[in-house]
Amino acid sequence: MKFIGAHVSASGGVFNAPVNAKQIGASAFALFTKNQKQWMANPLSDEEIESFKQICSKNGYTSAQILPHDSYLINLGNPTDEGIGKSRASFLEEMKRCQALGLDKLNFHPGSHLKEISEEECIARIAESLNMILDKTQGVTAVIENTAGQGTNLGYKFEHLAAIIEKVEDKSRVGVCLDTCHSFAAGYDLRSKESCDKVFDLFDKIVGMRYLRGMHLNDAKKPLGSRVDRHESLGAGEIGWECFKYIMQDARFENIPLILETPSPELWPQEIATLKSFIQ
Ligand code: ZN
Ligand code: MN
Ligand code: MN
Repeated sequence: MKFIGAHVSASGGVFNAPVNAKQIGASAFALFTKNQKQWMANPLSDEEIESFKQICSKNGYTSAQILPHDSYLINLGNPTDEGIGKSRASFLEEMKRCQALGLDKLNFHPGSHLKEISEEECIARIAESLNMILDKTQGVTAVIENTAGQGTNLGYKFEHLAAIIEKVEDKSRVGVCLDTCHSFAAGYDLRSKESCDKVFDLFDKIVGMRYLRGMHLNDAKKPLGSRVDRHESLGAGEIGWECFKYIMQDARFENIPLILETPSPELWPQEIATLKSFIQ
């Protein structure tokens, strides 16, 4: 099964996310379980958790179809003691929120070295953060998203993802989300069937397809290797439809959330319908 959806709004309460997903014909969705611009949030109430679970099950969304995303403030590779302490506390809270909601994944951006430490040291800090947090939680996989490599963000090379995973003790609870825009901006060409074959084979060789827990389906506004993270609507950017057709027709992308983060929500129903039409 292909699970296709978008990163929908959870404003007014997490239980609104499955409602919004249903409205656009999605069979998957992503959400923030709290305000993504704040470090901490009030705990979820029992009523909120219950209605989230009920609405999800009523609309046919299981945890396999849901990919929560963490706050943009969190940097699990932060070079300072204060910075990393805050990030780890906040990420632990988010993991616990997912656990309480019955969700089994949390998607995050690996981290930034802020030019204060080397890439290697930053990778070691990220892995140490994950080990500490996985130790204090159960049932939720930390899903590392590859990045465009903008600024001092790590995770733009498959080798970075592999190096983090290598240092994580519980490998059953670490995974990867590949973002097509980020991959392309980082220099991985996805414009043709041949280039897609190459990139996903490379990912399998360096990281391992078994770690793939989700995809972000975005076209890219900026050219190959730009290292600039600007999403575009599907087919309207530098990548083009071929890549998304490829993903829809390839069995390696079954049973994981395939999530649009494209810039025009009014186009989501059409983008989802077009993606579905590619399935053979
Ligand atoms: Zn992300
Ligand atoms: Mn993304
Ligand atoms: Mn992005």
